[in-house]
Amino acid sequence: MPSGRDPQHQRSAVLATPVTIAAQGAEACDWLRALDALSEPVFIHDEHYRILAANRAYAERAGLAPEEFRLRPYWEVFPRRDGPLPSCRAAMEQGRCGERRGSGEITEELALPTGEILISRSFAVTDAEGRYRQSVHILEDITEQRRREHRLSVAESRAREREHQLDRVLSNTAEGILVVDDHGRIVYANATAGTLTGHPPAELIGQVFGFPVATGAPQEIELRTGEGGSRIVEMRARTMRWEGDPAFVLNLHDVTERKRVERELRQAAIVFEEAREGVIITDAEATIVAVNRAFTRITGYEEDQALGRNPRFLASGFHSQAFYEAMWEAIRSHGYWTGEIWNRRNDGTTFAELATIRELRDESGHPTHYIGVFSDISRIKEYQSQLERVMHLDPLTELPNRLLFQDRLEQALRQHQRQRRRGGDSTVAVLIVDLSDFRAVNDSLGHAIGDRTLRIIGERLDAAVGDSATVARLSGDEFGVLLPQLVSTDDAAGTAERLIAAAEAPLEIEGHQIPITLRVGLSTFPDQAQGASVLLEQADAAMYEAKSEGVGYRFFSEELTERARERIELGAELRQALASDALDLHFQPQADLASGQWIGLEALLRWPHPERGPISPARFIPVAEHAGLMGQLGAWVLRRACRQYQALLRNGRDWGRLAVNITAPELADPGFVGRVLSTLDETGLPPDRLELEITESLLVNTDTRVIARLDELRRHGVRVAVDDFGTGYSALSYLKDLPVDRLKIDRSFVDNVDQPSRGATITRAILALGHSLELEVIAEGIETVAQRDALLEAGCLQGQGYLLARPAPLEQLTPPDPPS
Ligand code: C2E
Ligand code: MG
Ligand code: MG
Repeated sequence: MPSGRDPQHQRSAVLATPVTIAAQGAEACDWLRALDALSEPVFIHDEHYRILAANRAYAERAGLAPEEFRLRPYWEVFPRRDGPLPSCRAAMEQGRCGERRGSGEITEELALPTGEILISRSFAVTDAEGRYRQSVHILEDITEQRRREHRLSVAESRAREREHQLDRVLSNTAEGILVVDDHGRIVYANATAGTLTGHPPAELIGQVFGFPVATGAPQEIELRTGEGGSRIVEMRARTMRWEGDPAFVLNLHDVTERKRVERELRQAAIVFEEAREGVIITDAEATIVAVNRAFTRITGYEEDQALGRNPRFLASGFHSQAFYEAMWEAIRSHGYWTGEIWNRRNDGTTFAELATIRELRDESGHPTHYIGVFSDISRIKEYQSQLERVMHLDPLTELPNRLLFQDRLEQALRQHQRQRRRGGDSTVAVLIVDLSDFRAVNDSLGHAIGDRTLRIIGERLDAAVGDSATVARLSGDEFGVLLPQLVSTDDAAGTAERLIAAAEAPLEIEGHQIPITLRVGLSTFPDQAQGASVLLEQADAAMYEAKSEGVGYRFFSEELTERARERIELGAELRQALASDALDLHFQPQADLASGQWIGLEALLRWPHPERGPISPARFIPVAEHAGLMGQLGAWVLRRACRQYQALLRNGRDWGRLAVNITAPELADPGFVGRVLSTLDETGLPPDRLELEITESLLVNTDTRVIARLDELRRHGVRVAVDDFGTGYSALSYLKDLPVDRLKIDRSFVDNVDQPSRGATITRAILALGHSLELEVIAEGIETVAQRDALLEAGCLQGQGYLLARPAPLEQLTPPDPPS
């Protein structure tokens, strides 16, 4: 048992050899003194367990002088107990019986109440006749050693446990995992690797892997399995250290099934070559792997223009994100989707197709491929729309009839409700337009002239409203106008005025002056009506009211009529204010959200009205638009803002970019670009300091000339931001092609961005969109620290709002201290 390696053990070994000494008093022994050199306590006792002698180490542990313990029972001294050590007592009793007298060492481990652990080795000393004389005990303190051993065993068992867990995890992965050492020998294999190679992992260990291993792109290898078969495996290698030596860990992904399906699909695609339907086959990541000839015929894209791409490049932009989400949801849950989808050809034209998309899955249920089969149904669609025209158009004026009008009205109301749920606040208006005394025209001049009059009035009405409006002939001399999206009821009043002016312009047919008088009734949603039919009835009622009062137009409610009247007054006063320079500009800083440092200013128009008090731009800007004042007003703002900010810059104060709000009528003016450039030139403000804020609706559904204007300004360095972003519901897929540098997240979303809400979700979506299109994103209307923190957390870097700074005259703005 003594190992001979540890010096302590060596010493013990010497002592452990049975010693036979002459029959003389132990205390006289010279060798006892030699024991003093030992660090272990040693004591000698007689058959009554009384201490005869002890070395110095023992006296020290006992804390007593030798004369104090001589002849006392050793358990009263050290180690303290309530009797002799059990092994000592047993040996003594056996010794007395003459059985084990003088036999070898007895070892016993003792745990002391102090927590220390001792080993007592003892042996009996006999005289020449073999009679018992005394016992020698050597006490060894092994507390430290035990602790070390314990620590070691805990660490070891933890390491073993980890290894076990790792092994369990690795065996359960769908991927095969091999570790190969520097010499190409397999040193680890999980269960899946065993399955892939057809050999149990234990058999693989020590084998040569046999394929060249390289890190980087995955390699495709063919593994031979046990029974003469083989599997195609995609192998990825990474370097690692295995037990201290360099090694490679190999991930083996079984692609046999995928390859087989792909091969078959390609063959199937050849079968489809002659088919009339277009075929697109993609892999699980929706990357096109095959198309047929009909695909090229229908879309105009050659095979090599399609392979390797996502079919998204065919998207027309007509469908919402929700449409595609629903499509994918159906594919995931039912395995296929069938429906009508609009796509875009290589030449830019769009077409309707009837498509079926099917998902293929492998044995374990994971999608491996998607197959799309589609046929061009544009021709059918065309017939359909011709049919609809016949059914829905008034043959005389070729305007929509009542049926179509009602249909469009219901559609507008549905859309409006959707938009409202998203926070939009536009209004739908219905106008019923009646020709007063038209019967007299028919009666006096005949039906032919009556018909021509109606046609001309229809044309005039149609020309007087925008593209989004619907003008319909509802009955004999009654027309309906649907304004699906207005900003305010004032817009509706403005339209009524335009309709009246247009229709009542002098009209001469075959030498007859034909007097025309229009009476218009208006009803708006959601201000009053509940649904399409109620809306129509109310407009009708309002029209009769207008007739009986002999006024041009009348809202269904008095209050709205009143508001419209006020608008006209306000327009006149605004014209006056502009002429007398009674308007003002305030500036609101835009800041870096993390540091609070200013990065820009937005110019905001103010009208301190002498009687009505300050009037919000949200109220008077639409008035200016209607009064045709917007061009003048915009020019004033731009010049004033540039001049003031340039003066500041010249004084060495630089607060970033200057943002100026621009409205649709300004951009519609062909002279807009020239005016902006000459204002910059005249005021000296560098073009890259100016940012124009436009609304989302201005970008979509707009004619290409507006886009071209913005593009030209951007070429000069002027930047474009989309204000109130997220409130329009444009096809955002188009955004990447539009001249835009920055998105301003609308205040309505920022309002509850700090709680789980639609606003928070939309904010995140806008940030993600901005990020992917590499656009800057700024949040407006930040009022609380919680909102700011939530925005920062969502990754929004820029902000504007009362929390950071309120709009104020330029000279009253004080920037925050720079960060120290
Ligand atoms: P906007 O361009 O979205 O401007 C932001 C509006 O939000 C400003 O209102 C601003 O004072 C307000 N605002 C800023 N921070 C906060 C905030 O923390 N909480 C709240 N509740 N509001 C905040 P303002 O000045 O009344 O302007 C309203 C709108 O009128 C502007 O919206 C802009 O569309 C238009 N507008 C203002 N000035 C001009 C201008 O010079 N030209 C044109 N075309 N439109 C202007
Ligand atoms: Mg703005
Ligand atoms: Mg805004």
